[in-house]
Amino acid sequence: MPDEIGTGAVGTIEGLLVETRRFPPPPEFAAQANINDPSVYERARQDPEGFWASIARELEWDQPWQTVMEWNPPWVKWFVGGKLNASVNCVDRHLKAGRRTKAAIIWEGEPGDERVLTYQDLYREVNRVALALRRLGIEKGDRVAIYLPMIPELPIAMLACARIGAPHSVVFGGFSADALADRINDCQAKLLITADGGYRRGRVVPLKETADRALDRCPSVEKVLVVRRIGESHQVTMQAGRDLWWHEVLAGIREQYCPPESLDSEHPLYILYTSGTTGKPKGQLHTTGGYLTGVYITSKWVFDLKPDDIYWCTADIGWVTGHSYIVYGPLANGATVVMYEGSPDWPDKDRFWDIVERRHVTILYTSPTAIRQFMRWGPEYPARHDLSSLRLLGTVGEPINPEAWMWYHEHIGRGRCPIVDTWWQTETGMILITPLPGLTTTKPGSATLPFPGIEPDILDEAGNSVPTGQGGYLVIRRPWPSISRTLWGDPDRYVKTYFSKYGPSIYVTGDGAKRDEDGYYWILGRVDDVLNVAGHRLGTMELESALVGHPVVAEAAVIGVSHEIKGQVPVAFVSLRAGYTPSDSLAEELRRHVAEVIGPIARPERVIFVADLPKTRSAKIMRRLLRDIAEGRVLGDTTTLTDPTVVEEIKRTWIAEH
Ligand code: ATP
Ligand code: MG
Repeated sequence: MPDEIGTGAVGTIEGLLVETRRFPPPPEFAAQANINDPSVYERARQDPEGFWASIARELEWDQPWQTVMEWNPPWVKWFVGGKLNASVNCVDRHLKAGRRTKAAIIWEGEPGDERVLTYQDLYREVNRVALALRRLGIEKGDRVAIYLPMIPELPIAMLACARIGAPHSVVFGGFSADALADRINDCQAKLLITADGGYRRGRVVPLKETADRALDRCPSVEKVLVVRRIGESHQVTMQAGRDLWWHEVLAGIREQYCPPESLDSEHPLYILYTSGTTGKPKGQLHTTGGYLTGVYITSKWVFDLKPDDIYWCTADIGWVTGHSYIVYGPLANGATVVMYEGSPDWPDKDRFWDIVERRHVTILYTSPTAIRQFMRWGPEYPARHDLSSLRLLGTVGEPINPEAWMWYHEHIGRGRCPIVDTWWQTETGMILITPLPGLTTTKPGSATLPFPGIEPDILDEAGNSVPTGQGGYLVIRRPWPSISRTLWGDPDRYVKTYFSKYGPSIYVTGDGAKRDEDGYYWILGRVDDVLNVAGHRLGTMELESALVGHPVVAEAAVIGVSHEIKGQVPVAFVSLRAGYTPSDSLAEELRRHVAEVIGPIARPERVIFVADLPKTRSAKIMRRLLRDIAEGRVLGDTTTLTDPTVVEEIKRTWIAEH
């Protein structure tokens, strides 16, 4: 991030917002929590490798490791010499532990159909699909692309790949043909697993048609396996010699058992592309032993998973949240996972709360964007339902504005449930900064403390730790087991992106953060989005939180726009809650409100009312496109946008007002 010459504020970001609300863990929760001994932090700090090894030992290994960690910065290997299989740890192991008849996956389709798979069912399916993959010529090391809706075949396919050592590359089912083709070609997948379609807002998403268009330019793909999700009402073309129906291939499999590959701890488990919020998506490579160790223990401690919990993470498996906290983490713990195919507003805006009530969900993990959407729809939707089964709430994906946190706490948690605001990335594989719900007093808007064994820091431009209260670059000082090992096919970009700013041993996250007097971390936003106003570097989080704190505002995105005298000035894009209409006086009121809450320096030069903000398909606000509009540039990469018409609309508004 280049600094203006002579600003006097080089390499720091100012933290201005003050939050004084505190929520200690409810004593009943703390008493029963999986982790409630605070000495865990000290134990992990004194001997991080010993700490991680003690966790890895809770998994099932075919062969023990010789070395816990081998670190040649920036390259790292974990549990070197150890052998294991991820599907065995997520499935087979639980049969031996008496969980044969326990529900592994409770699935609900958007139209209301349902399937419940016990661990025994999951075992049978994973084995049979693994055998089918072998029969189709997939060998250890071959890449398999998966482009499926949120149906049970998706985790089954992933675990089947893991069983035979074929790294999967899951591509989110909402992506276009071009986005799919790019991802298939980048990893040279040999097989594609897709479906005739999926349901979204009552309509069929035509996955097979999209896949066909992508495959026109994917020469590496030899076979396509097609799951029948929709059936008769939606015909698809099957290309002879290339396309096979999943159910037909499986009908030909007689055996029930596919011996799992005993894989090196460092064997690639999967490739997954980042959300592309800041630019071209990066193909993160995750490996087996370290990744599984990280997602296993964070699921157990952060979500406090217990044998009789019903756990629901609302993310799509196409994102890392779904990989780590729908599939690998919870299943490695033998948990019961709820999986939902469709949209939160189908058939009505209370679908999530209906699922929570009917399924007795005890733990709910969702995103700030979803929470702000629920706020906008109004508290009457959750109020229609009995949510008393809930005992813990989580959020991930973006900084959560304190007002959204409070709304989640009151209207969903009904004041009873601890909230875990979990900070992490596709690159980190697992949650890195988070409360432990039985130990940590939470503060709305703060992801609180590093997970045991994680050593973050906040640095200025020169690489010095910044003082308490001051913002800077969030970095991680030592490797953790589930860090992405490289970018698929592009190790140079890996080094350049994450390990060049402060040398090869410090991982640069790309986010700005500050630490308070209790050592709590506050994510201030992405460093690419930082504003520079008259020499003051301001993160987006605090400005946006001030706006969302005003009762009329549903969502806000703030960007810096070039200004002759001040360098940049803040410009706010704001969408209003139901029942409010834009006006000049409201814009003026919001500008005044920000100045009061944060300080005159942050007062937006302009407030622009919009119907919606541009968001990635993983539900993150894409501020770089707003900057492109405001500075009259051609729009950057828009392939990961949920709804490209939103930016077009904002562009028209912007031009009309200038
Ligand atoms: P790209 O790297 O391609 O721009 P992306 O960063 O959006 O895409 P992800 O790996 O899905 O891709 O998102 C990780 C980012 O999401 C983090 O770097 C951070 O900016 C944001 N984030 C995730 N969880 C939190 C959280 N709890 N609080 C604040 N920010 C969060
Ligand atoms: Mg990122």
